[in-house]
Amino acid sequence: MAYRWPAGTVFKRIDLDVEDRSCPVCPLDMHVCDHRYHHLWTLQGPTQVVNRLVRCPDPTCESRGQTFSPEAELSISMPRWCMGWDVFCWLGHRRCARHWSVPQLRAELKDTYKIQLSDDAIERYLGRYQTMLAARQQDPARLLVAYRDITSLVLTIDGLQPEKGHETLYVVRELMGKRVWFAEPLLSSATQEVRRLIALARQWAESLDKPVRVWMSDKQDAFVKAIAAEFEGIPHRYCHNHFLRDVAQPVLELDSHAKVKMRSKVRGLRAIERRVLEDRRPTAALAPCPSYETPPADDTPPTDLPAVATPEAWAGRDLGGGRTDSALDATGWAVPSETDVADEAGEVVLGYCAAVRGILNDDQGGPLHPPGVRMSEALQEVRESLERTFEAQKGGVQSRC
Ligand SMILES: [Zn+2]
Repeated sequence: MAYRWPAGTVFKRIDLDVEDRSCPVCPLDMHVCDHRYHHLWTLQGPTQVVNRLVRCPDPTCESRGQTFSPEAELSISMPRWCMGWDVFCWLGHRRCARHWSVPQLRAELKDTYKIQLSDDAIERYLGRYQTMLAARQQDPARLLVAYRDITSLVLTIDGLQPEKGHETLYVVRELMGKRVWFAEPLLSSATQEVRRLIALARQWAESLDKPVRVWMSDKQDAFVKAIAAEFEGIPHRYCHNHFLRDVAQPVLELDSHAKVKMRSKVRGLRAIERRVLEDRRPTAALAPCPSYETPPADDTPPTDLPAVATPEAWAGRDLGGGRTDSALDATGWAVPSETDVADEAGEVVLGYCAAVRGILNDDQGGPLHPPGVRMSEALQEVRESLERTFEAQKGGVQSRC
C-alpha cells in the first residue's frame, strides 16, 4: 500500500538526470520525455526525488519505446519504497545488531527524525532487510572468500524452538568460519526431513571444496542416521554444550551435598564473635559496635548479616591477596576507634569469622567450577592463613578461631 503523506508535508527536492544522454542505437541525443516523482523518507526528512526520463527523439529509431531512467535513482532507494537506503539500513542495523523491538524502532524514528511509520510498514521493511541479509550471507562467491584460509570444516546441527509450540528451527552452523550456513523450520524431526538438510550441507561443503573434519550435535536419532548416511566415515561428536548441560544436574546435586557437609563442620562462628564482644564490652562501653549490640541468639545458618563480605574480598584481604576492598569498613568495626585499639586480637578474630561466613554464603559458580569446590578451596586458604599466624606468633596472641 502506498504511503499516505499528511497534507501540507514539505519535501526536500532532489533532481536526477540520465548521465549518458546518447541513444544506445543511433547517433542522436535522447530527450526528456517524462518525469517520475518518488516521495520517500530519508533521515533528512520527507524527500521528493524527481527522475527525468529520456528517450530517443527519432520515431523510427529501434530504441523507440524504451525509456531510460537516471542511474542514481537506485542509489537513493528502491522503486516505490517509502524510505531511502539510509532509513532502511538504520532500521535493519538496530533490529538485527541491537535487537530493538518494532515499537522501539517506531518511537525512535519519530522522536529523533520525525519519521512516522506504522508497525506494519516497519515489519515489512525489516522482512526485506532480512531477505537481503540472508542472500548476502549465503552468496557462494562471498562464502568462497570467507573460507579461503580455512582448511577443513566443523559442522553442527541443532533444533531450536524459539517459542513453545512453534515448529522447530533446524540450524546448520560451521564452526571454523563461525557462520550459520542455513536454517529451516521443519514440522517433523523425521529422518527424511533432517536428511535433506544434511544433504544440503554436503552440497555446500562440496562447492567450497573443503573436507568436513567432524560433525557435532546432541545426537538425536535422526541426526545420527542422516549424518552417517550422507557423511560416511566422518566422526560425529557429542556437542560440548549439550554434554555439559546434561552432566550439570548430577554434578550440582553432588556439589550441594558437599556444601551442606562443610557447613555442618564449620560452626560456632556466632559463639566466637559473642565472646570477643563480651570481653570487649567493659572497656568499649562508650563506643559500642552497632552491628553487634544485640547479637542474635541462634547460631545456625549464617545468613542474617548483610552480604557486604564477599569471600573474594575477605580472602584477598586476610590472606594477603592484595585486594583493597573496604568490606571491613562496611561492617562497622574495621576502623578501630581509640577505645577499640586495645583489642587488636579481637579484631583479627572477628575478621576471620566474617571471612568464613562469606565463604559459607557464597553460592556462585556453575558446573565447571561448582560452588562447593570454591568453598572447599577458600576454607583451605583460611586454614593455611591461620596456620601461618600460629607459626609466626607461637605463644603470643590467644586465638579462639
Ligand atoms: Zn535513437
